[in-house]
Amino acid sequence: MRLKCGQPLPLLRHSDVPPRVIENFILTGYRFPNYSLKECLMSAFRPTNETGNFWSHFLPVFIFFYHFVEVFSWEGAPSGEAPFFYPLWNYFLGVFCLLMASSLAHLLNSMSLVVREVCFFVDYGTISSYTVGSSLAYYYYIHPRAGIVDTGTLNSSVMGVTHDHAGLQTPSYAIPDFIVFFESFYIPCACVVAIICVLSCCNTRQRWRRHRYIIRTLVFLLPFLVSSTPIFHRLLSRSPYSNTSSSFTASSSMPVYFYRHCLWLVVSAIFNISKFPERLAPGRFDIWGHSHQWFHCCTFLSILDELHMIKAEVQAILLSPTLLLPPATPPSALPAPTIAATYGVMLLLQTTIVSIIMWFSWQANHIHGPQTDQLKKAHPKTT
Ligand SMILES: [Zn+2]
Repeated sequence: MRLKCGQPLPLLRHSDVPPRVIENFILTGYRFPNYSLKECLMSAFRPTNETGNFWSHFLPVFIFFYHFVEVFSWEGAPSGEAPFFYPLWNYFLGVFCLLMASSLAHLLNSMSLVVREVCFFVDYGTISSYTVGSSLAYYYYIHPRAGIVDTGTLNSSVMGVTHDHAGLQTPSYAIPDFIVFFESFYIPCACVVAIICVLSCCNTRQRWRRHRYIIRTLVFLLPFLVSSTPIFHRLLSRSPYSNTSSSFTASSSMPVYFYRHCLWLVVSAIFNISKFPERLAPGRFDIWGHSHQWFHCCTFLSILDELHMIKAEVQAILLSPTLLLPPATPPSALPAPTIAATYGVMLLLQTTIVSIIMWFSWQANHIHGPQTDQLKKAHPKTT
């Protein structure tokens, strides 16, 4: 493959690229896995079979940010640096990293076979840490005791709060078994499940290849089920807010957003597993309209509805200013967010995930490194 200076490299058919690179039912528009960083970045502006995958997760970063910052302009909202917003910022970081890593993974994966593997390991890692970011937001804003702790007799009577033998407050609407789970196991479980997800998904790139799409989709069902337990609890119990309060009105839109969030997740899973529509007409959707682009659109819509759901609960708490989470002093039923319990948890998780990714990348270099060198020799570029 010899090219004159400045000319973009030609796009290839599936029969002209290494088997590792081939996507089911996508016949054309492939970039050969020997692009330079600059060529990869420039390929965002030419129609390849990865262009739509890049833009369908890159543009949503801006849409998400636009909807996210609205929270800080609400009446009664503390400043953006206040501890109250630590969980929300962690959620933002989770989503931001997920969208950026996903879009860049699709753009940069044609640098080499090894880089391709690393790109997707990072992609799985950011999806997993996003689930923990969501869990932190759920824990502090949708938790059965969120915003209804230790604020005096007026709120206790309004919110139906009773006192247990240990002097802690237990909201009468809460289901006791759920409370035990939330207090002790919820965030640790979310972290463990996220690590299991990274390990499983990274493994599907080296073994279990035949059923990789089903495994990856099912594996992410687990963090969804664990993370969503505060929402399941909220749906199964009565609202913590008085029926006549504005907090109740704000919170009442939460179930609709949650059901839509679930619907988008189901549709995205169907696209990811079925490989529809390219399965019906191989070659017809190579550049635009193939399943992975629809998968990206649906996952982003699910994230957007999740953001609206969290915002509804944040607004409900803000509309009850005397119910705001207090400083982390006992005997608060739910400690206020601290840097250690939010950013600290995420940092610890990220460190673990980065270690896992480095381990799999090292293995990938052993497996694909020799082939990458052979391909470079067989397909030299003149630039
Ligand atoms: Zn993707």
